[in-house]
Amino acid sequence: MADHYEVLGVARDATTDEIKKAYRRLARQLHPDVNPGADASERFKSVTHAYDVLSDAKQRQQYDRGGQGGGGFDNGQFGNFGDIFETFFGGGGGGSRGPRSRRERGQDALLRVELDLDEVIFGTHRDIEVDTAVVCGTCSGTCCQPGTAPVTCDICHGTGNIQRAVRSLLGNVMTSSPCGSCRGYGTIIATPCVTCQGQGRVRARRKVPIDIPAGVDTGLRLQMPGSGEAGPAGGPNGDLYLEMKVRHHDVFSRDGDDLLCTLDIPMTTAILGTTTTVAALDGDIEVQLRPGVQSGEILTIKDRGVTKLRGNGRGDLRIGVQVLTPTKLDHKERELIEAFAARHKVPAPSLSHFQQGLFAKLRDRFLG
Ligand SMILES: [Zn+2]
Ligand SMILES: [Zn+2]
Repeated sequence: MADHYEVLGVARDATTDEIKKAYRRLARQLHPDVNPGADASERFKSVTHAYDVLSDAKQRQQYDRGGQGGGGFDNGQFGNFGDIFETFFGGGGGGSRGPRSRRERGQDALLRVELDLDEVIFGTHRDIEVDTAVVCGTCSGTCCQPGTAPVTCDICHGTGNIQRAVRSLLGNVMTSSPCGSCRGYGTIIATPCVTCQGQGRVRARRKVPIDIPAGVDTGLRLQMPGSGEAGPAGGPNGDLYLEMKVRHHDVFSRDGDDLLCTLDIPMTTAILGTTTTVAALDGDIEVQLRPGVQSGEILTIKDRGVTKLRGNGRGDLRIGVQVLTPTKLDHKERELIEAFAARHKVPAPSLSHFQQGLFAKLRDRFLG
C-alpha cells in the first residue's frame, strides 16, 4: 500500500489544514463525476482513504507509529471490517466505498418496425423516429448551469459516505452509510442546469437511420448498440432493439427463404398447356405449364425467393398449380364436354392415399 502522505502529496509534518487542502485539490481532479476513468476512480479511493486516516488525529498517530504495513492500526482493517459488517447486515448498498457516480448507462429501448414482404426480399432503409432521452444541449450532460461545476460535499468531504463507529458483537466496527447531504454523490450541484433540471439529459424525438437487412422475419430483433436512451449526467447510451413484423401479403407467403403462392388455371389451360407471365414481388416471371399439368403440382422458380439473412443467395419461388373446374356451362358447352367424355376413355373415379404436404397446405390456404 502506498504511503498516505505520498498519496496526498504532503509532508510528514503537514498540518490538518494542509492535509484537508491537498485532499480537496485532488478530489476536484479525481472525483468520478469529473473524471470518469477507471484510473481516476482507483486513485480517488486511495486519496480518500489516505485522507480518512490522516485527518483523524488518533488514526494518524497510530499510522505514524505502525509505518508501512506494520503491526499497528492499519486502516485497511477498518475497511475490511466495514465490508464484513455490510455483508452481514446489508448496509450501504454493495460495499459503498467511495461516492457513487451520477453518470449511469441509459436504458435500452424497444421499437416495432413493420415491413412489407417485398421490402424483406432485398432489405430496405428506414429513418425511424424514436422518442427518447438525449444529452442536454445546454450543459452537455454535466447537469450544471454553463460556467459552473459540482462542488465537493462539505459533510462527507467528497466520499459520499458517512463513517460511524457502532458497537456490535464484533466489538467496535465502522459502518458507512450514504451521505444525506449529497445523496452519496460526494458533490453538490449548487446551480443545476435549467434546461434539464440537473438531469444532464432531456426528452426528444430523434431520427435513427437504419438499414434493415434482407431476409428478416417477424419476431427477429435487430440490436443497434448505443442508439437507446442517453444515460443520466452524460452516461453512455443504452441500446436500441428493433423488433421486426412482416405484414401479411394477400398473394405471397413465406416458408423460410422460399416464397409460396398459388396459380389458378382454367381446366382447359391445364389440358392444353401454355406459357404465361405472372407478376412476382420482384418483377415478372414467365411460367411454362405443360399440357396435362395437374392440380397440386409445384413449379419451382430457382432464386426468386427471399435473400438469405446470413450467407449468400436467395430462396426459391414455389408456385402451386390449382386447376379450376368450370361450374356454369351453357347448353352448347355441356354438349361439347359430353362429346369429349364419350370419346375420351377416362377411368372411373378411384381412391388413393390422402395428399399430404405442400399441396394440402396450399389447398387449405386457398379454401380458407
Ligand atoms: Zn442540462
Ligand atoms: Zn456528502
